[in-house]
Amino acid sequence: MSESKPAVLSLSAADLEAWLIANGAPTYRRRQLSGWIARGAASFEEMHDIPKPLRTALDRQFRLTSLRTVATTQADRGLTSKTLYELDGGHSVEAVVMRYADRSTLCISSQAGCPIGCPFCATGKFPFGRNLKAHEIVEQAMDAVRLLAGESRRLTHVVFMGMGEPMANYQAVVESVRHLAGTDLLGISPRRIVVSTSGLIPRIEQLGGEQLPVTLAISLHAARDELRDVLVPINRKYPLEKLITASQGYAEKTGRRVSYEWVLLAGVNDTERDAKELGRLLRRKLAHVNLIPFNPVEDTPYRAPDRAAIRHFKELVESQGLNVTVRDTRGRDADAACGQLHERVMRERTVAQAARVQGA
Ligand code: SAH
Ligand code: SF4
Repeated sequence: MSESKPAVLSLSAADLEAWLIANGAPTYRRRQLSGWIARGAASFEEMHDIPKPLRTALDRQFRLTSLRTVATTQADRGLTSKTLYELDGGHSVEAVVMRYADRSTLCISSQAGCPIGCPFCATGKFPFGRNLKAHEIVEQAMDAVRLLAGESRRLTHVVFMGMGEPMANYQAVVESVRHLAGTDLLGISPRRIVVSTSGLIPRIEQLGGEQLPVTLAISLHAARDELRDVLVPINRKYPLEKLITASQGYAEKTGRRVSYEWVLLAGVNDTERDAKELGRLLRRKLAHVNLIPFNPVEDTPYRAPDRAAIRHFKELVESQGLNVTVRDTRGRDADAACGQLHERVMRERTVAQAARVQGA
């Protein structure tokens, strides 16, 4: 497949309409095309209510997606599936589809790699690759739509919790959210879109002014600066007190409760002291705490607490008057903590390369 052909979703509505006019087609074909993409079309060819010569011209000029599937894995008896994609230029990113009784959620990547470097995260272990373009983010959703359409399911929720720090790729992320929320394509309510951030304060403030009431998730993981400086290194630049002020500013502007994420690391941030500090930090705030049992990553010093320790921590935080849920651990056997399939494939590639070098 030629990388030189633009991906059709990389064109703005105006540019695509200009292309249609230049090719002798009415502009309403753009909506038809978007409709097919939104229903999960896998080729221009199958868009049968678009005249054949126009389909051929589209196919000659554009790619339906720029993403190439490199690997897929399944977990939870098929309820979770993960795909690793190669981007133009060779970097790769992953996306995870999680199926529930009443919804289907896609965990999406915004960067190849991540510049923040949290020590417990698989994504942070590789050198930063590059920012994704808006269409590359949207294309992950389109591929999920395609997959789910084959199961008579609809994509209902999107979470920016895959690889990368969304707020470090701000423009493309906001543009992709507008696409995902737009009625031309998927029409997913911004309320069902979660943008998770390690805490880039200026961007959180900017997001509050976008008239795009997405759910904001803050990756907190520690409620004292000394520990958060280690677990989420951007904390040295944007410390806790200012971060909470910015997040609550977002809550007030949008009326949306902020989600605070807390990856539970045994003996590191799951103690009584941590629960009390968390309680003090968020009490009486428009906030919800999500406890995430650590998904083990090789070559890190961290361990997940056992079930009893998780329950105990939850009760301690609840007793401080906070709303708390423990996130389910979907996809453990699919390398599904984001960054992990990428990590495994990269490791295998490195081993294969080393073998080739040795054999040469
Ligand atoms: N960079 C953004 C979004 C991607 S990470 C952020 O950090 O918020 C999405 C969530 O997964 C974050 O809360 C992150 O801390 C968490 N996470 C990363 N590695 C994990 C692991 N090994 N186990 C459990 N959660 C992890
Ligand atoms: Fe980046 Fe988020 Fe991983 Fe930290 S947890 S390294 S911010 S992807």
